Amino acid sequence: MVNYKDLGLVNTRAMFAKAVKGGYAIPAFNFNNMEQMQAIIMAAVETKSPVILQISKGARNYANQTLLRYMAEGAVAYAKELGCEHPEIVLHLDHGDSYELCKNCIEMGFSSVMIDGSALPYDENVALTKKVVDFAHQHDVTVEGELGVLAGVEDEVSAAESHYTKPEEVIDFVTKTGVDSLAISIGTSHGAYKFTPEQCTVDPKTGRLLPPPLAFDVLEAVEEKLPGFPIVLHGSSSVPQEDVDIINSNGGCLKAAVGIPEEQLRKASKSAVCKINIDSDSRLAMTAAIRKTLAEKPAEFDPRKYLGPARDRMKELYMHKIINVLGSNGKISH
Ligand SMILES: [Zn+2]
Repeated sequence: MVNYKDLGLVNTRAMFAKAVKGGYAIPAFNFNNMEQMQAIIMAAVETKSPVILQISKGARNYANQTLLRYMAEGAVAYAKELGCEHPEIVLHLDHGDSYELCKNCIEMGFSSVMIDGSALPYDENVALTKKVVDFAHQHDVTVEGELGVLAGVEDEVSAAESHYTKPEEVIDFVTKTGVDSLAISIGTSHGAYKFTPEQCTVDPKTGRLLPPPLAFDVLEAVEEKLPGFPIVLHGSSSVPQEDVDIINSNGGCLKAAVGIPEEQLRKASKSAVCKINIDSDSRLAMTAAIRKTLAEKPAEFDPRKYLGPARDRMKELYMHKIINVLGSNGKISH
């Protein structure tokens, strides 16, 4: 059993309480490789932001969870080396799908886990989530549950249709399970193709697709039921059109990729939403930089020469999110 505290990691409890009170949200960035992790830590240190490093099922399959766990341990040392005396870094399991997996991650040194029982019937979701919470809390690990279903595809998590969270269920769910935070569905969606063109309207000025607005009425109803309780938004990439354009003008083919407008996420950050998950935007930034570099320098074959610019572009993206969307800059307490 490895305790996350011995690795210099923190759980989400104090971080979320502060974020809800302060009207900002903590960035939860997924990582699968070294360049991504370096970019996340550089951005968090430079902006003095707390940060959640997330590992999804796809990441575990791709990069090996033991290796990723050691990278997260390394991230703490790296942040200190970059000048941050007391980094606030959470290592979080994204979309845990079984009790065994959550238990395994907790024993490996994760400081936070998500148990996603949202596809199960309500009572089974309650029972599974409670089982994970009971184990996690023995080790002071925090747990995120989910109510409501997000549409879209994220690694192996996928659903054709979204079902908004039912505000009338949240008090019962939180009380019965003891979860520390709750992911809700208000119209965000996994992946880079969050909406079909039919669901969108066309912006007359730019000709771009505009997605349907988030269901802030559902968020407000949840907040009314659970005042001050930490709420989480998944699937909250904005799919920057600059990156989509760079990808498409350098040999790529992304058609009608649409994300959540940043002004809506900015509004959500000021509410009880205290964790916002961003994955696709980092993928797009990385791909855009790699495609551009390889198109401009066709003779280049040193991976550092195209992964380096990709890392720079991701760092820029993470800093932009922290400062201009989530408002978590300058929030490290020491
Ligand atoms: Zn998710």
